[in-house]
Amino acid sequence: MSKLDLADAPERKIPFNDLSIQWRQIAASVRDDFETTFDQSAFCLGPFVERFETEISQFLGARHAIGVNSGTSALHLAVLAAGLGPGDEVIVPAHSFIATLWGVLYAGATPVFCDVEAETGTLDVRAAERCITPATKAIIPVHLYGQPADMAAVKALAKRHGLTIIEDAAQAIDARWEGQHVGTIGAMGCFSFYPGKNLGAAGEAGLVVTNDDDLAAKMRSLRNHGQSERYIHQAVGYNYRMDGLQGVVLRRKLPLLGAWTASRRELAMRYSERLAGTPLQLPAVRYGEHVWHLYVVRTPDRDRLRAALAERGIETGLHYPVPLHKQPCLANLPSAGQGFPSAEAWASQCLSLPLFTGMTFDDVDYVADTVRASY
Ligand SMILES: *Cc1c(COP(=O)(O)O)cnc(C)c1O
Repeated sequence: MSKLDLADAPERKIPFNDLSIQWRQIAASVRDDFETTFDQSAFCLGPFVERFETEISQFLGARHAIGVNSGTSALHLAVLAAGLGPGDEVIVPAHSFIATLWGVLYAGATPVFCDVEAETGTLDVRAAERCITPATKAIIPVHLYGQPADMAAVKALAKRHGLTIIEDAAQAIDARWEGQHVGTIGAMGCFSFYPGKNLGAAGEAGLVVTNDDDLAAKMRSLRNHGQSERYIHQAVGYNYRMDGLQGVVLRRKLPLLGAWTASRRELAMRYSERLAGTPLQLPAVRYGEHVWHLYVVRTPDRDRLRAALAERGIETGLHYPVPLHKQPCLANLPSAGQGFPSAEAWASQCLSLPLFTGMTFDDVDYVADTVRASY
């Protein structure tokens, strides 16, 4: 490093996320269970995954919880269990992570884009109603950034038109709507335990929950090669099993999730206090209890602000910079040609500020002061 670089180097670094703090809290307790897992060679599903399934179903208040190898697989199983396939239309928001749609596409059904709310970024249910055709069979509300979507409106719409609700709760574990955990409101709810999610595995993992015995039985079988009993395959299945070691990690993290959610809420409130009065559009909490997977602000000068923060050692994220209807691989979908002004505005203006377990108020103040100083 030259002298000049040293002089220019920021004094302080705030990473976008830091998972090491969570790991330190469970490191001692997982070691014995890892040992047991290796001793028993219980690498695929196994006793710890079973215990995790029982414990998380109790935590969420869901009758069935099925551990899988990713949130994407959870969504695929839900779409298959709902019986969706070629010719069926599924309403999805135009602003989300692309995995919201993969299951629909894998099953050969057609995602139909719908715009999102300017205030929350979640599905605009009035816009969804205009997308309905005789082929519409299901709707996938996304609890984006950790905030429940407008589930009262989603439920009413689904009831009027006989739609299956599949919740994409990948970003929103522990979020509640009218006292109910998200993921348990619709027919099926899908969670991701990707390491950076609020409850993160040490690798890839996911979960699908339901209160319906038949849907649960279908998904349990499809997850494990379509087996009904050993070596009897009733359906074309998948290998979507959760790893035994992920069951260990997730089980040890679950009891800590409530405290982690509480600390995220405090950090988010601190941001909102400290950023009040700036030109930024701050996150609005509209529907139920937000768990702040992401703290996303909006501003037309997003790229300038992002660069200004980076210069002061602050790492930020973009969730997500390209709306789904503009993705190259989705350009051929019939609804992709329409404009979705709110989704497009989110894509061009969103900026995710650092927020993670173990971040301090002092860190938040440094970020907020840097934002202010840039204006
Ligand atoms: C993370 C995520 C997924 C996919 O989960 P994976 O575990 O990464 O497959 C789906 N939908 C949303 C909204 C997500 O954030």
